[in-house]
Amino acid sequence: MRHFTYQGLPTQVTFGTGTVALLPTVLAQQGVRRAMLLSTPQQAEQARAATRSLGNTIVATFTDATMHTPVEVTARAEAELAACGADGVVAFGGGSTIGLGKALAVRTGVRHIAVPTTYAGSEMTPILGETAGGRKTTRRASEILPHAVVYDVDLTLGLPPGISGTSGINAIAHAVEGLYARDTNPVMQLVAQEGIRALASALPRVVADGADMAARSQALYGAWLCGMVLGSVGMALHHKLCHTLGGSFDLPHAETHAIVLPHALAYNAPAISEAMAILRSALGDDDPAAALHRLARQVGAPCALRDLGMPESGIDVATDQALENAYWNPRPLERAGVRDLIARAWAGDPPA
Ligand code: NAD
Repeated sequence: MRHFTYQGLPTQVTFGTGTVALLPTVLAQQGVRRAMLLSTPQQAEQARAATRSLGNTIVATFTDATMHTPVEVTARAEAELAACGADGVVAFGGGSTIGLGKALAVRTGVRHIAVPTTYAGSEMTPILGETAGGRKTTRRASEILPHAVVYDVDLTLGLPPGISGTSGINAIAHAVEGLYARDTNPVMQLVAQEGIRALASALPRVVADGADMAARSQALYGAWLCGMVLGSVGMALHHKLCHTLGGSFDLPHAETHAIVLPHALAYNAPAISEAMAILRSALGDDDPAAALHRLARQVGAPCALRDLGMPESGIDVATDQALENAYWNPRPLERAGVRDLIARAWAGDPPA
């Protein structure tokens, strides 16, 4: 076994059903006496109802969390946080709301308790993506990691099938890239394998019946593990491509991941024999890229970037961007291969 360094994440994690009832204990453990509740407008009601046990500890609510954490929204929330004198935030929702929680915690030093309701995994990472003037920048710092996470399977029962499928594949993408990360280690490979296995088996059942508790439980457990991988080791071509595509063509985050993943994996496959062996076992399929492409279809995820509104002329633009700013990838970045993978993802072809 080659040498490795393993750094555990310090976040306290509570997992189960009905666990929002434990929020008063979790906030007390974190020393939070006055908290601001964060959500998107769509989840404002669900957030209020689910955190009722916190009573007067919630001193304010901010319900304008927005995808990609625009700095103007953060500035408004920060002003409200200062006005109410809160010493903690409870971010209730998906990656968009948890992004706002991170932005506030890192700016002000308040405690951040995340209550995730999608499978995107942001709650387990010290990574923050923010948008200013239409440009998204991402940074990684230990202070960005939420202090505590409460996973409650009940909260995911109403997650619509579309977001369940795409945010679940977004989570799988974290673990797939974690398997072959430059700084991967055997512990993260185990976590990634189990996360992929749990999500790949649960997602079709979740999409068929959103109220299937066993499947919802497996999916959220898998999402937690995949989020741990994203928070612990570096990513490569797939994540860089999705970041560029999302930013340049204003494509939705989770759908873009679901479309690109099988193609990025097929590109890297010749250079990652150990990761491919783990994927064959996790997915129970000899061809992991084809299996992920099938899974995306099975859960109703879009299969072509053109269906998300990306113009054909964007294929060359995205290829140029993918080859700019050299970054590590297990297989060296070759223009023809990268262009081909983007073109296939654009057209909705199977991975090759
Ligand atoms: P999201 O947070 O944008 O949520 C999508 C929509 O679903 C929202 O309208 C939300 O209110 C709604 N929703 C969420 N949970 C629901 C539920 N249980 N029931 C009903 N509706 C629900 O989507 P996402 O995919 O979770 O997050 C995407 C964002 O997170 C992107 O900005 C992405 O960049 C970021 N992200 C960051 C990291 C990180 O580590 N920094 C990791 C993954 C994603």
